[in-house]
Amino acid sequence: MKASLYYGQRDLRVEEIAEPEVRPGTVKIKVEWTGICGTDLHEYEDGPTFCPAPGHPHPLTGETVPVVLGHEMAGVVAEVGEGVTHVKPGDRVAVEPYITCGECEYCVNGPYNLCVKMGYYGLSGWGGGFAEYVVVGANRVFDLGEISTEVGALVEPLSVAHHAIRRSGAKPGDSVAVFGAGPIGLFIISILKALGIDDVYSVELSSVRKEKAKAAGVVRVLDPSVDDVVSILQEATGGYGVNVAFEAVGASPALQAAIDATRSGGTVVNVSIWSKKAEIDMFGLVMREITLKGTSAYKDDHADVIELLQSGKLTVEQFITGRIAAEDVGELGIRQLIENKDENVKIIVHP
Ligand SMILES: [Zn+2]
Ligand SMILES: [Zn+2]
Repeated sequence: MKASLYYGQRDLRVEEIAEPEVRPGTVKIKVEWTGICGTDLHEYEDGPTFCPAPGHPHPLTGETVPVVLGHEMAGVVAEVGEGVTHVKPGDRVAVEPYITCGECEYCVNGPYNLCVKMGYYGLSGWGGGFAEYVVVGANRVFDLGEISTEVGALVEPLSVAHHAIRRSGAKPGDSVAVFGAGPIGLFIISILKALGIDDVYSVELSSVRKEKAKAAGVVRVLDPSVDDVVSILQEATGGYGVNVAFEAVGASPALQAAIDATRSGGTVVNVSIWSKKAEIDMFGLVMREITLKGTSAYKDDHADVIELLQSGKLTVEQFITGRIAAEDVGELGIRQLIENKDENVKIIVHP
């Protein structure tokens, strides 16, 4: 079968590799659509970071680069292994692309998204979504029902947003500020709305992204280059500040504003991946008992996201800004996302 293999920095090759075979407890999927993720961009531009570099095999897959890229995948079940009953050939499915050890305390008792040996299909080996077929653990496969596989490819990044919201404790009636309207910021806004949380503000610099946040239904979009974000958000909430803020930018001024705009006792969730250390004033955070939380990928979020899509409360077709063939992932897909960062939300790939 054809697959896009990642060899290292700016080196992605479409090659013919062996088709994976189904084993007991696994599902073989004919991939239809796979989203290109920010992580894929980082791997392509500056990697290998997540992908196991030569000489450093992943502890669970034992593989190093080249690996098949693409972890935001959806497709049709081709074959199921022995013992698999929750899906059958022909079902449309989305994948929670975790490779976990199943033995550490996090896997056994706690949040499995914190597995000490965590790996991902599409980054760590064992195949991925930029290929015609992938075989994954049955517990990682979620039935999409009537949802298309195009939308199915967005279930993974939507789950990142859904998990961040769950970590925040945000509930209907709360006021919420979302800093950053890139893909994850927009997904957070959309899911908040789908969950009945309507008092949502967006903070964003780029005019293209501001329009997208408006279209996603926020009360107001604030531009930190012209608006006094903190005082506007305080004013809008009776002088207190928002109950919850999300930081999806990865810049100290945004994190600081998120903390300052949150009411005493409120919660700030940091969703962004930081490439350098943050500089924030801890005094206000301590004195006002702000809870600052991290959030990592997802845990038991895929089924809830699919349910929101099925209910019609969450619509995301508008976020698919490009559809390309696997041969074009590197030049058309990744280049496009890097150079036209603001226009594009999700580009999906057909293998
Ligand atoms: Zn991703
Ligand atoms: Zn584990």
